[in-house]
Amino acid sequence: MLEEKRETTGTNWTLAYDSFDPEEEGLREALTSTGNGYFCTRGALAWAEADGVSYPGTYTPGGYNRETTIMAGVPVLNEDLVNLPNWLLLELRIEGEEAVGMDNVELLSYRHEYDARYALLRRITRFRDRAGRETTLDTRRFVSMADMHQAAMEWKIVPENWSGNVEVITALDGRVTNRGVARYRQLEGRHLDPVSPRTFGPEVIALVARTRQSRIYVAEAARTRVYRGDERIDANCSLYQMQDYIHHVHSFEVEEKVPVRVEKMVAFYTSRDHAINEPLGSAGRAVGYYPTFTEALERHVQAWDELWDVCDVHVPQDDRVQLLLRVHISHILQVCSPHTADLDTGAPARGLNGEAYRGHIFWDELYIYPFLNFRLPEITRELLMYRYRRLDEARRAAKDAGYKGAMFPWQSGSDGTEETQVVHLNPKSGKWEPDLSHNQRHVSAAIFHNIWRYYQATGDFEFLLDYGAEMMLEIARFWSSIAHFNPNRDRYEIHGVMGPDEFHEKYPDSEEEGLRNNAYTNVMVAWICETIQEVLKLLPERRRRSLCARLGLTDEEIETWREMSERMFVPFHDDGIISQFEGYEDLQELDWDAYRAKYGNIQRLDRILRAEGDDPDRYKLAKQADTVLLFFLFPEGELKQIFERLGYNLAPDTVSKNIAYYDQRTSHGSTLSFIAHAGILAKLDPESSWERYMVALESDVGDVQGGTTQEGIHMGAMAGTLDLIQRGYMGSEIRDGVLYFDPKPVGNLDGLSFPMRFRGMPLEVKLEGDKLTVAAQSDGFSQPIKVGVGNQIQEIKAGERHTFAL
Ligand code: BGC
Repeated sequence: MLEEKRETTGTNWTLAYDSFDPEEEGLREALTSTGNGYFCTRGALAWAEADGVSYPGTYTPGGYNRETTIMAGVPVLNEDLVNLPNWLLLELRIEGEEAVGMDNVELLSYRHEYDARYALLRRITRFRDRAGRETTLDTRRFVSMADMHQAAMEWKIVPENWSGNVEVITALDGRVTNRGVARYRQLEGRHLDPVSPRTFGPEVIALVARTRQSRIYVAEAARTRVYRGDERIDANCSLYQMQDYIHHVHSFEVEEKVPVRVEKMVAFYTSRDHAINEPLGSAGRAVGYYPTFTEALERHVQAWDELWDVCDVHVPQDDRVQLLLRVHISHILQVCSPHTADLDTGAPARGLNGEAYRGHIFWDELYIYPFLNFRLPEITRELLMYRYRRLDEARRAAKDAGYKGAMFPWQSGSDGTEETQVVHLNPKSGKWEPDLSHNQRHVSAAIFHNIWRYYQATGDFEFLLDYGAEMMLEIARFWSSIAHFNPNRDRYEIHGVMGPDEFHEKYPDSEEEGLRNNAYTNVMVAWICETIQEVLKLLPERRRRSLCARLGLTDEEIETWREMSERMFVPFHDDGIISQFEGYEDLQELDWDAYRAKYGNIQRLDRILRAEGDDPDRYKLAKQADTVLLFFLFPEGELKQIFERLGYNLAPDTVSKNIAYYDQRTSHGSTLSFIAHAGILAKLDPESSWERYMVALESDVGDVQGGTTQEGIHMGAMAGTLDLIQRGYMGSEIRDGVLYFDPKPVGNLDGLSFPMRFRGMPLEVKLEGDKLTVAAQSDGFSQPIKVGVGNQIQEIKAGERHTFAL
């Protein structure tokens, strides 16, 4: 193997904060969440309740609930990913006094750490209380990657200058609501009904609650033990319980300078789980069998090591980039791990780290899946199955809107119906404004794209045969039904949709929603209509026949798709600028400098303009990469072919001209935008690409949007930075079944290496100077694969390696 054992020590795994900052706490909680793809909990202080500084939140994929808010007499229905009972609660009382909190002690030192390698949170606090007692509290917590139901906390308490009585309160708290996002607070946030507390023997407390409308039962059980060295202390234990809260108080004596340890082992179950009887019984039983914190940690570490073995990205020349990439990998895996595969979920845009966008699933998958496709494709497969199971709902949506095929929702939750709000609050103006973003029909194009890219990376023909093809056919069908033929132009057109740029919802002063001929959408559709022909060819005759019969697919429809692949309309203006949509050139130019001078950060120009009584629809501006996204999603050659087939010329300077044009008119109000721009510029302007890449890399850790990360990480940006490494900078691309590389010399990427899996073959790819080495692991399963650099194509068998001169 190229890398016998990748680097396992070093400083570039740890995100650390050395002082307590109430202003920053929300952000740090999101960034130091601990999760395993089945449940995930914000890195809140163990004793904290939602108090404006801390926000404990626990979420599980698919744990949604719908509630109605009456707004000015109008019922407004929303589906939210529910904040589940808080299992973190541990409080410390010294000599019967008020429990220790950040506001009643003097901090002597403080460190809050996130170890990305093991998604392990550590907080070390030295404090002096009002009585002058000094205490060190060293705490660790993780949600086990080895046992999906298990979480563990450890507290080491050292009385530095005192001896006396200590009480540790260990609780499970179901009195939580969804109130993590300020602008949603006027909406109903109660999603849980209490069911009951319970004990299992003398040392286990448990709690079960139920989501109010979706009736998901959620049970947690906790076993708390106190140790001095390896010896358990027989603490005096008392119980208090209410319908939605339960605690044990452990009371014991401590001696100056002699550490004691408290271990809280927690089991988390829901009624959506497999292989259980009912969640409460399962949680109570499981926690009784849990090993000690240290033993559980060993298993957890082992499970993460396995994941790093296939997921790490090694950047030896740049510590900061290395750290951030690892933080990103570790957060992606906290949301999408092998445990997620069974949960019937997609990838929520904001992770399981907060409540922004209500835990909904968007088109962001387009940015998230490429990283998984080449490492843990079995996860992508199941995330795509989430869409397949909601295909009927997408069919119904298309039908209700007067179309055919499948129209997937812009925001998807439990059952695949459209979850996009109809109104949203503009925090700048305090006004509720109509939300037309559901017209972003391009989400269905993204799903098609994701299925195809998954297939290309894995060669998982079974998936294509059994599920993928059906979704793709229904999506193609939707596009041909929403499109219409314009005989004057002799081209197909699509009206009434929005592109990824959410600042343009309609034409200024128009009553009609959406825009005409969004170029991004139309080109995606042309590509879909071409690719679907290939899919049909791939299907074995019998399957093709039965699928066509089942879907009632006619030769005429297939012929229409072929025509659309040659005759979709793409608007242009000026000299070779692809218009974001038809009529874009008639919009006004915005005085960007004036707005920058007035507002500083103008990423959310939509809110600024509306608060001024103006309308973003009037201007040439974009929230994020829209038209130019095409240059990011498709390799240059492929895009050229798409345009040529359409009869448009993609001149050699089209990319540079368009990127320069739109760059000046984009506010990058979505973190996704930096990914696309960095990717496109990798070849055109490496320096600028790297600058944007660094912004994308820092976007969550540095909270570049000024406050959004505390409401949840940006999965698309995080995974996008990883995709950029493999696709943008290593220049990987699949063409005719060959995995090509075309490395771009940017930043400090020399020595870059990472594992990949291509069509089942585990690979290690390394860039060193002007050499690129691809090594295939030896295994008895994989078929030889083809790897190419420029014109050199090399077949590589298991156990072989090849070095390409660049
Ligand atoms: C972006 C969308 C994205 C959504 C969820 C929005 O701010 O504009 O493109 O899908 O966030 O991440």
